[in-house]
Amino acid sequence: MSTVISADWVLPVEGAPIERGAVAIEDGRIVAVATIDELGAGEHHPGAAIVPGFVNAHSHLEYAVYAGFGDGLEFAPWLELHMARKRRLDGDDMVAIARLGAAQCLASGITATGDASFSGAAATAMDELGLRGTVYLEAFGDELADDALRGRADSGRVRIGLSPHAPYSATPALYRACVETGRPIATHLAESAAEEEWLVHGGGPLSSFAHLFPPPLGETGIRALARAGVLGPQIVAAHCVTVDEEEIALLAENDVAVAHCPRSNALLGCGIAPLHELRAAGIRVGLGTDSPASTPSFDMFAELRAAVFAARARERRPDALSATEALELATLGSARALGLGDEVGSLVPGKHADLAVVSLDDSPYVPWEDPAAAVVFGGSPQSVTTTLVDGEARYERGGFRWQELKRSATSARSRMLAASGPVAASPR
Ligand SMILES: [Zn+2]
Repeated sequence: MSTVISADWVLPVEGAPIERGAVAIEDGRIVAVATIDELGAGEHHPGAAIVPGFVNAHSHLEYAVYAGFGDGLEFAPWLELHMARKRRLDGDDMVAIARLGAAQCLASGITATGDASFSGAAATAMDELGLRGTVYLEAFGDELADDALRGRADSGRVRIGLSPHAPYSATPALYRACVETGRPIATHLAESAAEEEWLVHGGGPLSSFAHLFPPPLGETGIRALARAGVLGPQIVAAHCVTVDEEEIALLAENDVAVAHCPRSNALLGCGIAPLHELRAAGIRVGLGTDSPASTPSFDMFAELRAAVFAARARERRPDALSATEALELATLGSARALGLGDEVGSLVPGKHADLAVVSLDDSPYVPWEDPAAAVVFGGSPQSVTTTLVDGEARYERGGFRWQELKRSATSARSRMLAASGPVAASPR
């Protein structure tokens, strides 16, 4: 027995927008996408568009309450501040924070995420709240620790991967060990000029962390990892801001996916990733919110707009990234980057019924002209009325007990802020 959900528009992403569109769902899967005339109205949402659930290509749910920490600091002291404060938290704090992060994702229409997780708490939170995705457990240094998986195993919607943190904090040998597990991999690559200066010349602001990091590589991370033969399609690389032509070619040749995080890159003063060149090289690119520590929210609508602003400003062309292309980047693009392209990211029969209803009734974008522009420029977490994962409502506007979620998470934030003096900084 199928159920039907309908709205003024359905944006399947694969296929043209459908006016007065409807989606039929059976056993958690999409069985049909067509007009209301063909499928019936079912549960109808007037003044709204139905979009595939957003897929967040790069997040850190465990940093949900880090907003504004160290705003305006250079990359190196910013990193130091976070590492120091994080050491003041215990496992329960991390689950409480990740739970809030998962809830904020669902409230933003995000139904799947690729989460880089320090403690593994993100997997607990995602399981509980019904958010799909991969939790990449972070690894640092030279060797893969025996407890690298933190006792975690794949569950229904959540896969466990590994995240060798970055080429300045993890050696090519650790990358190789992670890749050899056969698990999905996420990492941070070519994020800042400081990273490149350290890796290539052993200098710059990151040199104050020399005691924590492996020795510099004498070349950029992408070149070193390519030479070590560890780049491959199971890797999603966040950022890729400071990449040259040769590095883009190396990413493309090895089919490494990229998580584009324009707000994080902008706010940390890292720059604007060459989205046009990355896509033109045939690289799978998705859109990621990164974490509130830098962005400062899991608001995918703000990320969509930042992607459009950054692309058009960088290219100096108003058609550098259309609303339709941005929407594709944050749904199917991210799904493909995370290796979930056959399962989610578009509204087509056979895929999981992961979708969001975005009400634009009160926005200046209705009556409708271009529904993709309306969603991208007019949408916000406040305009998401329902988020479905596997056809099940995992978020309904006003439905979460936000006070409860926030209380425990913000008490952890208070503790991070209250303690005086820096705690010894260490990436683990
Ligand atoms: Zn990150």
